[in-house]
Amino acid sequence: RAKRNHTDNFEYYAPEIEERTTWQLGMIRQLRNDFADRKLQLWFQPQVDLVTEKVVGVEGLLRWPDGKGGYISPAVFIPLAEYSGLIVDIGQWVLEESCRRIQSLQQSGYVDVRVAVNISIPQFRDRCFVQKVTDALKRFSCPPGRLELEITESVVMDEPQIVIDALNTLKTYGVAIAIDDFGTGFSSMSYLQRLPLDRLKVDRSFVGDITPGKSAVIAETIVTLGNKLGLCTIAEGVETREQAQYMTKLGCDEAQGYLYARPMPFDDLMTYLTEHHQPASR
Ligand code: C2E
Ligand code: MG
Ligand code: MG
Ligand code: MG
Repeated sequence: RAKRNHTDNFEYYAPEIEERTTWQLGMIRQLRNDFADRKLQLWFQPQVDLVTEKVVGVEGLLRWPDGKGGYISPAVFIPLAEYSGLIVDIGQWVLEESCRRIQSLQQSGYVDVRVAVNISIPQFRDRCFVQKVTDALKRFSCPPGRLELEITESVVMDEPQIVIDALNTLKTYGVAIAIDDFGTGFSSMSYLQRLPLDRLKVDRSFVGDITPGKSAVIAETIVTLGNKLGLCTIAEGVETREQAQYMTKLGCDEAQGYLYARPMPFDDLMTYLTEHHQPASR
């Protein structure tokens, strides 16, 4: 089985891909075309401080219009983008788009709002990754601390040394690092020690159920672990007041979820911020 290499396009894997359905092939082709035609969008979902309810950050989330007024779920197309190698170029665009938005936020006085970006493993395998991040920050005059990279446990497990080295270097520039969907992967606690983390994102699956039971115990344990390691903790997928109150009680610092806002285009985010965030300067 050929080792996947992000620089090759999918034709390289023809024998492997032939086994795949024509549906997937068609999706990849369409994604490549739509990306080239600049049809992908980066939406943003607010992250709030659980105590003040002030917006402290936003997470950039890809949206792929289906041409019929709807959107194809990232849960469907991100794996295809990773498999085909397209994620390297798409991820680069996401990174630049995020830095461009950081610059806009800074210029609008939202100087303390972070922008978080999801990073996939093929991006880390790109030897120029660190350089690409620092170039994007420079190009849009971003304070490095306003950019946060989100990585899942599986990304770390895939290529531990490559990921740890890249993140350590980026950390020296001041870029923030979050571990995404924490608790759902096969993580090793040792990575919590070896990664230069700032934030721990408690997976939605543990936040959803606050009735006494196993997921509530796991949520509590993850928050305690994060707090004791000196990391900021953020609850994903908060949909109800009760969930927000419960996570606050556990000592969780921040939250993200439909209770506050769904992911939205950047223009809508700017409107949202005028109502939910007082700029430091105007
Ligand atoms: P994620 O990074 O864990 O992002 C959070 C997902 O939870 C988003 O789904 C968001 O819309 C959804 N969500 C937020 N609040 C709630 C809530 O209260 N309830 C429920 N039910 N869901 C909520 P989305 O946008 O469909 O993205 C899915 C995944 O796709 C992301 O999970 C991330 O892993 C991946 N993804 C999205 N954009 C990118 C990207 O630019 N690059 C990469 N590599 N992956 C991305
Ligand atoms: Mg994420
Ligand atoms: Mg997540
Ligand atoms: Mg998740």
